[in-house]
Amino acid sequence: MKFDIVTIFPRMVDAFLAEGVVARAAERGILDPAVHDLRRFAADRRGTVDDVPYGGGPGMVMKPEPFVRAVEQLREQRGSPDAVVLMSPQGTALTHAKAVQLSRLKHIVLLCGRYEGIDERVREQVATEELSIGDYVVSGGELPAMVVVEAVARQLPGVVGDAESVRRDSFVRNLLDWPHYTRPADLDGARVPDVLISGNHAEIRRWRKRSAVRRTLERRPELLEQSPLDEEEREILRDLRGSD
Ligand code: SAM
Repeated sequence: MKFDIVTIFPRMVDAFLAEGVVARAAERGILDPAVHDLRRFAADRRGTVDDVPYGGGPGMVMKPEPFVRAVEQLREQRGSPDAVVLMSPQGTALTHAKAVQLSRLKHIVLLCGRYEGIDERVREQVATEELSIGDYVVSGGELPAMVVVEAVARQLPGVVGDAESVRRDSFVRNLLDWPHYTRPADLDGARVPDVLISGNHAEIRRWRKRSAVRRTLERRPELLEQSPLDEEEREILRDLRGSD
């Protein structure tokens, strides 16, 4: 799957792509990420990509032409993308379902804004959608773009070594994950639940299911309305609700 990230801070994104799950996926040919310096698409030699806002006021606005040229050139060099995504706090929220949907595409371009944002005509004429990583504002689209790459990449077969661990991640079945423990069994009196060291796999499985349902009920009860619970989980939920 191809990702093209257009940014004025390419080194920030290069560092991310050089490590961890995403780097391994690129080595294995599952991901084909590329970072593009927006300044290369500026009209002048200084690489100007921003200008003062029409109507006055503080801050700078990112000029539209460098983004237009960048996407045109990417189209020629890397092929026609399935989506051109503008990173924006005003966009559709990135959720697990959205990450799965994007993971079915073959080629995504991510446009990173800075300053007050990008000239509106890029949203209207170049982008096919806008994506937000949450209801808060960070200073640039680079971190949001990296979040998108990582969340989408995790959904591609072979990117995370153990497919089972992705299947039981929080939100995949509209449930939160159960709590995890490792050695030591006793941390200055804080003990790992006995069941996890009992060796009784049926009991461990049941404890994990119960913990996941309880956590979801306590922290994100609205998720349970859409969760495809199995019979055992439904019984656990009835029991937990009954014991309130
Ligand atoms: N003035 C803009 C607003 O309030 O909607 C925010 C501009 S922000 C400082 C600069 C850039 O960071 C945006 O153009 C966008 O690319 C990125 N950005 C900031 N917060 C984001 C978020 N929650 N999700 C996605 N991108 C975000």
